[in-house]
Amino acid sequence: MFTSVIGFPRIGKDRELKFASEKYFAGKINEAELQETGRMQREYNLKTQKTSGIDLIPCNDFSFYDNVLDTAFLFNAIPQRYKDLNLPVLDTYFAAARGYQGTNGNVKALAMKKWFNTNYHYIVPEIEDDAEIKLAGTKPVDEFKEAKALGIDAKVTLTGPFTFLKLARFTGTKKASDFAGALTAAYIGLLEELRSAGADKVQFDEPYLVRDLESDDIALFEDIYKNILSKKGSLSILLQTYFGDIRDVYNNVTELDFDAIGIDFVEGRKSLELIKENGFPKGKILVAGVVNGKNIWRNNYAKTKAILDELKKSVPESSLVIGTSCSLLHVPYTLKSETKLPESYKEHFAFAEEKLVELSEIASENADAFKKNEALFASRPDVLDQAVKDRVSSIREEDYTRFPTFEEREKIQKELLKLPLFPTTTIGSFPQTEDVRKNRKDFKNGSLTEEQYISFNENKIRECIKLQEEIGLDVIVHGEFERNDMVEYFGEHLSGYVFTEKAWVLSYGTRCVKPPIIWGDVSRKEPITVKWSVFAQSCTNKPVKGMLTGPVTILNWSFPREDISIRESTLQIALAIRDEVLDLEKNGIGIIQIDEAALREKLPLRKSDWYSEYLDWAIPAFRLVHSGVSAKTQIHTHMCYSEFTDIIPAIDSMDADVITFEASRSDLLILDALKENNFKTEVGPGVYDIHSPRVPSVDEIVSALTKIRAKTEDSKLWVNPDCGLKTRGVTETKASLKNLVAAAKIIRG
Ligand code: GLN
Ligand code: ZN
Repeated sequence: MFTSVIGFPRIGKDRELKFASEKYFAGKINEAELQETGRMQREYNLKTQKTSGIDLIPCNDFSFYDNVLDTAFLFNAIPQRYKDLNLPVLDTYFAAARGYQGTNGNVKALAMKKWFNTNYHYIVPEIEDDAEIKLAGTKPVDEFKEAKALGIDAKVTLTGPFTFLKLARFTGTKKASDFAGALTAAYIGLLEELRSAGADKVQFDEPYLVRDLESDDIALFEDIYKNILSKKGSLSILLQTYFGDIRDVYNNVTELDFDAIGIDFVEGRKSLELIKENGFPKGKILVAGVVNGKNIWRNNYAKTKAILDELKKSVPESSLVIGTSCSLLHVPYTLKSETKLPESYKEHFAFAEEKLVELSEIASENADAFKKNEALFASRPDVLDQAVKDRVSSIREEDYTRFPTFEEREKIQKELLKLPLFPTTTIGSFPQTEDVRKNRKDFKNGSLTEEQYISFNENKIRECIKLQEEIGLDVIVHGEFERNDMVEYFGEHLSGYVFTEKAWVLSYGTRCVKPPIIWGDVSRKEPITVKWSVFAQSCTNKPVKGMLTGPVTILNWSFPREDISIRESTLQIALAIRDEVLDLEKNGIGIIQIDEAALREKLPLRKSDWYSEYLDWAIPAFRLVHSGVSAKTQIHTHMCYSEFTDIIPAIDSMDADVITFEASRSDLLILDALKENNFKTEVGPGVYDIHSPRVPSVDEIVSALTKIRAKTEDSKLWVNPDCGLKTRGVTETKASLKNLVAAAKIIRG
């Protein structure tokens, strides 16, 4: 059997591309140097896959920021405001990705959203009514030629036109279908150029096909591909889907003239059933996604073989290719970089490079490898903790409900806290400057004593609080200087987790996260944040918000277990965080924020699964965390992104007292929806974008607040940035927060 990879990580085994890009942004290297780093990453990826014996190796999966943005630039879907900056192409591209403030102008970045159910973010293309969609770039062709020069006949990967149109935002009166003709023609032009460059395989990524589709979506998809496929000539075209099954379009897809169809058998619950029931067309290739592109556990060869055996009943073996379930972008590079994890743990994992080996071993049905693999699944050390299991099974129904009701608590808290109207606050973290990182690093590697480490952080907290008091913020935070990534931080203080050194995964742009791995049953070893919060509260008379991460987010941003349910793991974590909440309260912390930044992100892609597969346990898990506090304790939560219009009742039933969320990069439609649903929870829609270094003016914030006020009750409105400030510089942070407080004062007046 042949093997296929949908896409490979690109940020660099040692995050080379991240560091080069950041140097480029800071003006420390030039474009040629950045391009060279990009080229080296691509070469590394191609050669690594070649050496592992992969047959269908992707190219054009590389990007300097995001593949969807690349596609927008490739087809000239570039909003005028970025063109008007008159910057070189690459800088125009970065301006659209990150915003631009400089001698050529002042523009915000395009919106950014989570890529389906992952923690990767894509840039939302904006298509204006007068956009002239045409082939305007050569990236896929260049990257194909580059691979060819290395002796690799690569499969060219493209973001598919249907997914592209479905994800784009149309700013005027035109819709997706109005641009379908021009876009199709542009793709056809691109195929022509690829053919002349000598390409013979093209992969169209169409993950949007795994969502719920309406009949006009299906019509749009069919229209586009009938046209494209009629002009494919000698090219073999692979339609690649992932992140689920394609139950709404399976028959439409198989009837079209694709040469190969890529289907996900890891997340696609109905994939096998679809093929069994409907058959698979003769003469076409099935690329079966059986190696999980999202998780880091070793593939269970016996289970995979069982799927392949089933498939062989409908598809001749010669037409079967095995592949990854999605791009390997969502897993780290290689276990080879992990020098500290004992082999008894490591042997259970497979990162991107190890997954290549898995593909080869499965494809060749290597008997030794199968035997070794079977032994691996027989046992794992340190997994079970009976006390944790018992505690989860003794949770009672009433543990999920906080008393008294929200309305009573709101009254009590208003009297007690005496905050001004439109209270100002931040989301928690303050800039993670060089010295802050160094302090943590030096403590970890033993060159600082615990006292030195603590005293450095206490000074930082003191400074941070002084700054917040000077700026005039009402609810103070300690700044999170002890945390790198919040989930990694909590994971480190919980039993049941294991950690990696270099297992970075791209989150957006140049930003990577290093998700910890849930290895076994999870419990809290000791209080985690209490001493930092108590110290912070001792530095000020204003209320300090305790700062925790919620169980759903901790789970969603970790690599989860595959041997117990995600629900059970989440409840284990919820109990651990519940103990922390109660300890904070006991130690005089009156406001506690429990971030559920990632709650929205794992909402199933299909509506019919939203509650039964997710919200029905995720929301109670959050409630379990705070149901034990008194009415006086104010519980905040924070969610990145405001795309929860459809699940507002579920968000309200988290029963927090205050929720802050991102609103500055998305339109304010969410506020109408909150109003319509009589949303009870107090709200802090972010008034400026922290993903960009741009400083918002006072006027800008006042006008955002004015729009927000038109749709919310004044007594329920908080004023805050849209997320934590850890990735920002100190100067821009101070300036932005001063403007935020000034704006709040103006509207109070
Ligand atoms: N409290 C966290 C911070 O401020 C929240 C981060 C997040 O929402 N991603 O950094
Ligand atoms: Zn956030």
